[in-house]
Amino acid sequence: MKTNKLLIFVSFIIVLTLSSFITSDVQTARNKFVVVLDAGHGGKDPGNLGNGYKEKDIALKTVLAVGKELEKNPDIKVVYTRKTDVFIDLFVRGKIANKEKADLFVSIHCDSHTSQAYGAGTFVLGTHRNKTNFEVAKKENSVIFMEEDYEKNYAGFDPNSPESVMSILLSQEEYLDQSIQLAGLIQKKFTSKLNRKDRKVKQAGFIVLHQTVMPSVLVELGFLTNKSEGAYLNSSKGQIQMANAIKEAILQYKQSLETNVSDYQIGNSTIETTSSNSANITFKVQIAASSKALETKPYNFKGLSTISRDKEGGLYKYFYGNTSDYESIKGLEREAKNKGYKSSFIVAFKDGKKIALTEALKSVTN
Ligand SMILES: [Zn+2]
Repeated sequence: MKTNKLLIFVSFIIVLTLSSFITSDVQTARNKFVVVLDAGHGGKDPGNLGNGYKEKDIALKTVLAVGKELEKNPDIKVVYTRKTDVFIDLFVRGKIANKEKADLFVSIHCDSHTSQAYGAGTFVLGTHRNKTNFEVAKKENSVIFMEEDYEKNYAGFDPNSPESVMSILLSQEEYLDQSIQLAGLIQKKFTSKLNRKDRKVKQAGFIVLHQTVMPSVLVELGFLTNKSEGAYLNSSKGQIQMANAIKEAILQYKQSLETNVSDYQIGNSTIETTSSNSANITFKVQIAASSKALETKPYNFKGLSTISRDKEGGLYKYFYGNTSDYESIKGLEREAKNKGYKSSFIVAFKDGKKIALTEALKSVTN
């Protein structure tokens, strides 16, 4: 019996060691917060031409101004989908962001209308609750018709069909809360700081947002078709003011993620489910490690609840479950693996500090 237990311990050490190697290989430690800035349109696609202004130019100038400000922060890396007047397929924009493993994707556009409508709005991917939102998305999506092979790249997606748009929504679902949070911050800056008319945070089926796997928003700075708003957005004063508002919202969003981490660490009291161990040993299942601070909500973790997060060596580690009962944690580990976290493993804590699993098991079984 003793030998059997020893064997189990040894196998656990091996699994633990292997898993740590795999984790650190896949997720290279990276401390910078990566923001991908996407200037809408470009090249042969001018975007809307309200009042003779060019959406593609205003979007680019504003994006470059946001980036210039963000780059002043040494812990932020800015990536641009375009820095010049070039045409870039929508799906490529998302690919750039995904390849960078970005923390945020911010796409910048200007709206147009046949009326003198005006105001700034920020969109997240979702079902359009009304026709107006659908029309905005339809306009921004229609650029795919200028792309070669669009049928292949968007799998038969038809921007003109509401049903088609509905089918692309699931991909952003897990980032929706964070996207809405950022969108809300941007709108707040636009309205309270710059007195722009608030067209609110809205949801609609933008293809460019569908391609990304991170919190993503699309900003419509305002209407070029509106006489005074068009002139404002076309001026360098307008562009710099709008860019600063977006920059401040991004910094505030980043700050709130960092605050959440310390909140978690303060609030992380260990729950004991049995009284059998006096040494305050608890077990958790480590399911993932990432440079991103995800909220510990079930929708971020394939439906698993009781997720906790710790920052260790520049990486956020995510744990499932929290129990002093070793048999229970083995059950939770199986559950995590079944959910798709194949390389998850059990970790042990003594008085809240991580210790070797073998050491923990010794104290528990004694
Ligand atoms: Zn646009």
